Amino acid sequence: MLCIFCGRFSDALLCPLCSEELQKQSYAYRFSGRCPTCSRPLQDVAYPCPFCLKGFQAYGSYTGIVSALLNQFKAGAEKPLSRVFTSLYIPMLATIEKPLLIPIPASKKGFSDRGFDQMLLICRMLTKRIGYPSLRLLVQKGEGQSKFLSLAERKERHTLTLLPLDTRVRTYKDAGHTFVLLDDICTSGSTLATGRALLAQGYGIEARSLVIAMV
Ligand SMILES: [Zn+2]
Ligand SMILES: [Zn+2]
Repeated sequence: MLCIFCGRFSDALLCPLCSEELQKQSYAYRFSGRCPTCSRPLQDVAYPCPFCLKGFQAYGSYTGIVSALLNQFKAGAEKPLSRVFTSLYIPMLATIEKPLLIPIPASKKGFSDRGFDQMLLICRMLTKRIGYPSLRLLVQKGEGQSKFLSLAERKERHTLTLLPLDTRVRTYKDAGHTFVLLDDICTSGSTLATGRALLAQGYGIEARSLVIAMV
């Protein structure tokens, strides 16, 4: 087969050179500093650790091969890339006690452009590969009317909403699971913040958040 990124002959989806490049883009590789509390990679130990502060961790920054692959994936043509991204969440999840995955749902436009919901797909793969349980608790709503809103109103509006309350949350909570929101890219952090607020309001849980790339 051919490497999905560079087109060289390869045994795997990504050839060894592209795999190495992807690894080199990770914070774990680029940052030598580690948080003294949680030991996650930190660019500068003088600044607070985003995981200790807000329960937030990213694989790397939205640059180089990371952003190129994400764009390829989001454009829809490269559904197999979900396997590559799935493996980037695994080491991050391994450091969290009994993670329970909650996918950030794709926007309606994203879904219709691609024909699949990328985070739902990745969560399903993580369940299949590692056995982490996953629950769909959030949904995107009301995007249909957004053309009638001004730009400011659209920016203000969060379309993320809770699905009807799921009784399994209580069971997982009692069993000591850590709730983890999964998204692919974090731009302003507002989607994850909304997701966390909704879960806190609806279920009284404090969720962590993991993403591939931070803009
Ligand atoms: Zn390659
Ligand atoms: Zn930390």
